[in-house]
Amino acid sequence: MPPTCRTCSHPQRAEIDCAIIAGVSLRNIAQRFKGPSAWSIYRHTKHVQAALLAGIRAKGEALAERLYAELTKGMDCEAEAAWRYMEVLGQHAAGR
Ligand SMILES: [Zn+2]
Repeated sequence: MPPTCRTCSHPQRAEIDCAIIAGVSLRNIAQRFKGPSAWSIYRHTKHVQAALLAGIRAKGEALAERLYAELTKGMDCEAEAAWRYMEVLGQHAAGR
């Protein structure tokens, strides 16, 4: 039987994953959620990488939507141009 991950079996695992996605340092997460060490949380990030990346992507999309809403408030040409510019930059960064 494989060893159980202390972070996966932690009662506050969802909160720990959210903290990882939010970019909180592993040492701070270990201090906040008693149980797994920073090293244990690091190993956890490696075997749940796909789920964490999906969370990070969703966080980025939510941020982009909020930014878009802010930029297009009162909608003028300047805001639209700024958004288009950011879209192009995002596509460039994504290699499209
Ligand atoms: Zn785990």
